Amino acid sequence: MSVSKIPVVVETLLREIEERIRHLKTKQFTDEELLLLHSAFGAVLQRAFEVLEKYPTLEIYSTANNTRILIEIKGDNDRCYRVFPRINFCPCQAFKHQVLGKKAQVTCKHVLAARIALILDKIVENKITQDQYLMLLQSMFESED
Ligand SMILES: [Zn+2]
Repeated sequence: MSVSKIPVVVETLLREIEERIRHLKTKQFTDEELLLLHSAFGAVLQRAFEVLEKYPTLEIYSTANNTRILIEIKGDNDRCYRVFPRINFCPCQAFKHQVLGKKAQVTCKHVLAARIALILDKIVENKITQDQYLMLLQSMFESED
């Protein structure tokens, strides 16, 4: 499995926004944050918002004490992708070609949509056991082409 790193400057931006929004009751980005996110992610930001428009809340699966977390994103063609909260990896084709291959994108729309959903608290939590987590993890890599 190949993992790419979100560049430090982009990760720092995400964390700053996350930190600001954490304490807010109404969780949303300011116009300035949207501009900053757009300059960091470009067209991928738009695609991530399209995902979140279609699926306003994402399912997350977490084990006891949130030690292990996976976020599920429904993709095109009824495919389903699972990503980790802070790891820049997705089994989708865009990640493989645009992020790891051409390095044309920082990340894919699934990873970014997952991160945005977490920041804005647009998630539905499902508690799972360690065994179930391992099964989800396994199925995630089976779906990799
Ligand atoms: Zn992806």
